[in-house]
Amino acid sequence: MSNQESRPGEQRICTARPVPEPPAAELLAPRRVPLGGPRAMPVLRSLPDRRRRMIGAWCFADVFGPADVSEGEGMQVPPHPHIGLQTVTWLVRGAVRHRDGLGSDRVVRPGRLGLMAAGRGIAHSERSPVGRPPVLHGAQMWVALPEAERHGPPRFEYHDDLPVFTLPGARVTVLAGQVHGHRSPARTHTPLMGAEVVLAAGATAPLALRGDFEHGVLALDAPLRVLGHQVEAGALLYLGPGREEVVLRTDRDARLLVIGGTPFAEDLLMWWNLVGRDHDEIVAARADWERARTEGDARFAPVAGDTGPALPAPELPGVRLRPRPP
Ligand code: MN
Repeated sequence: MSNQESRPGEQRICTARPVPEPPAAELLAPRRVPLGGPRAMPVLRSLPDRRRRMIGAWCFADVFGPADVSEGEGMQVPPHPHIGLQTVTWLVRGAVRHRDGLGSDRVVRPGRLGLMAAGRGIAHSERSPVGRPPVLHGAQMWVALPEAERHGPPRFEYHDDLPVFTLPGARVTVLAGQVHGHRSPARTHTPLMGAEVVLAAGATAPLALRGDFEHGVLALDAPLRVLGHQVEAGALLYLGPGREEVVLRTDRDARLLVIGGTPFAEDLLMWWNLVGRDHDEIVAARADWERARTEGDARFAPVAGDTGPALPAPELPGVRLRPRPP
C-alpha cells in the first residue's frame, strides 16, 4: 500500500481526540403560580425559567390540575389580550370554553387542539363551561411568532383530526410539526414540533427527535425517567440540540408533552400576556388594551358573548423593559 498522491500533504494524526460533549439535559422545576383572574386557580409554570427562557419558539408552559371543578366556578379567565404569540390549549381531562374577539366559541376537549395566533392583537377568555366534566387537567403553552408573522391578523384554529400513531408502549398524538413522519395540520411559523405521548406502565419508548432542534419533555401526571432524570408532574426536562432520539420511561401509566424547535433567532420582550420586541411597543399594547376594555379599541375587539368584566392590565414597572435573548 502506498500513497499515490503526487504531492502528499502533511497529515496531522491526533490520537487523543477530545471527547465530544453530550448534548445538554437540564431539569427545570416548575413554580406554583396563580392563574389570572379574581378566582385564581394554581398552575405549575416551567417556562420561562430563570436559566432557560425558551425552547425553540415555545416561550411559556403551564400545567393545571387535575382539579375538582364540579363545585364552584372552575376555571375562570376573563377576557384578556395577547400580542405576538400563539396560545396552545391541550387538555388531559375536562373541558375549557374558548371565546375570542373574532367570534370564535369552542369547547376544547382532550385530544383536540385549540390554537390561537394573536398576531398584532386579540382578546380571549377561557372558562369552565356549564355542564362540565368534574375534573380539569391540562396544559397551556405559548409559541412566539417571528418578526414576519407577528404583525399579522389574529386567527383561531381548532383541530379534532390530529395524527395519532403508536410506538412500543406508547401512543403519540402530533400537536404541531412532524413526528415520525406524521404531520399536524396546525399552522406554525418557525421550525417546531409538539406531541403528546401516553406511556403504559413499564414502557420504554424511543421517540425520534430532530438533531437541529432543542427539546423539552414536560410531565403531565406520573413521574418519568428520562436520561437519568426523574421528571415529576409539571417539571420540564430541557434537551439541547444534537439528539436524534430520546428514550421515555415510566413505572406507572404516564402522559407527557414533548416540545421542540430550532433555537429562536430573535430577542423577545415578554411582559404579562404580551410578547414584543421593545418597551414602547409593550406600553402601546397595554394602553390599547386599557382603552379596549373601558371604551373600546379597534386592536382588541370585544370577546363575543362573554359579558364578564375584562382583566385590567397590571401596572408597568418603573423601569424601562428590556428585550432578552432566548
Ligand atoms: Mn390567554
